Amino acid sequence: MIYWDYAAAAPPYEEVVRTVEQLMQLHYANPSSLHRAGADAAALIRRAREVCASALGVRTEEITFTSGATESNNLAIKGAALQYSGRGRHIVTTELEHPSVYESCLQLREMGWEVDFVKPKPDGGIDPWDIAAAVRKDTVLVSVMHVNNETGSVQPQRDIARAVKEANPRTLFHVDGVQGFGKLPGGPRDFGADLYSLSPHKIRGPRGVGLLYVREGVRLFPLISGGSHENGMRAGTENLPAIVAGAKAVRLASERQRELAGRLLPLRDRLLSFLRGIPELVVNSTEAGAPHIVHFSYPGMKGEVLARQLEQLGMLVSTRSACSSRTAEPSRVLLAMGRDEAAALGGIRISLGDGHTESDVAALETAIVKAVLALKIAEGGMR
Ligand code: PLP
Repeated sequence: MIYWDYAAAAPPYEEVVRTVEQLMQLHYANPSSLHRAGADAAALIRRAREVCASALGVRTEEITFTSGATESNNLAIKGAALQYSGRGRHIVTTELEHPSVYESCLQLREMGWEVDFVKPKPDGGIDPWDIAAAVRKDTVLVSVMHVNNETGSVQPQRDIARAVKEANPRTLFHVDGVQGFGKLPGGPRDFGADLYSLSPHKIRGPRGVGLLYVREGVRLFPLISGGSHENGMRAGTENLPAIVAGAKAVRLASERQRELAGRLLPLRDRLLSFLRGIPELVVNSTEAGAPHIVHFSYPGMKGEVLARQLEQLGMLVSTRSACSSRTAEPSRVLLAMGRDEAAALGGIRISLGDGHTESDVAALETAIVKAVLALKIAEGGMR
């Protein structure tokens, strides 16, 4: 079996697994406890925060640990909306966002906020002018992801940030950086973001920890009430093993970004041109996208049917993002990009990681040809 689902979950580094195990055994004390074991645990969290801050090029106090990027996105959006509702009750986001952003915005809409969802162009890009045109005097927050988790399309974050701040300097700019970090250069400061979310398990770290960069001076209304952990913005005893191991993964991802992108780009480009040669398929990713995501559709064929066929041939692929793969609905992202319903139902996402080689890609190509052929024959038989 070859695993092609790194964008859903990447296999953890061995040292990440070892760190989690060791810390669970040795540092079980509560970091809030005043005794020596508690102080040691608190020091480890402080160090992990420094490591993340240095990898992101920000101040240590600007890092908040959460349980994952779903929570980071919820906290960024609902926390900002609730904290700054005195400035207005309007939010701008896009049709491309991950459900953790999209659904948070829909929830706010149900609670009386106005939300504008900006549409992408057919290549999946967001025009900064469309964002600028949507920002108003009462816009509290704009949220635009760096890299789309289905197609890998990359947004011009710096231009979007400039457009937001020119339209309204008080509007906060949130970037969901989950699929971009470690694959493309740039962090919150480069993007002009006030808020920036990250997920260590997408970069070979552990599950159960997420990061949120909160620019100095910005406050978020805590969604989880309790103690004064995480600068009063996120209560709950810290998940120390995941935080420390997650910080390792963040450091490694930032150190290895250039090398990883250099290795993945030729594999991605090879796959893109191979897929364009199969007349039955529509390719939804481009060379301007992220180096690790290739998305295509077989219009008229449900994505999960093709995915199951590929699994029988030893290839583990995804139908779209893991969070939406169990819905039978057409992909909201592909529909927004102007694909028809048949294409939006028949999507396959291949996501690459550092374990992949040319020969893995060759094996995948052979499997795709066989799978498409088998489905065509089965389709013909059914007519
Ligand atoms: N944002 C994007 C773009 C993602 O791809 C994902 C996960 O698929 C998330 C947010 C949520 O991350 P987590 O799995 O850490 O909750």
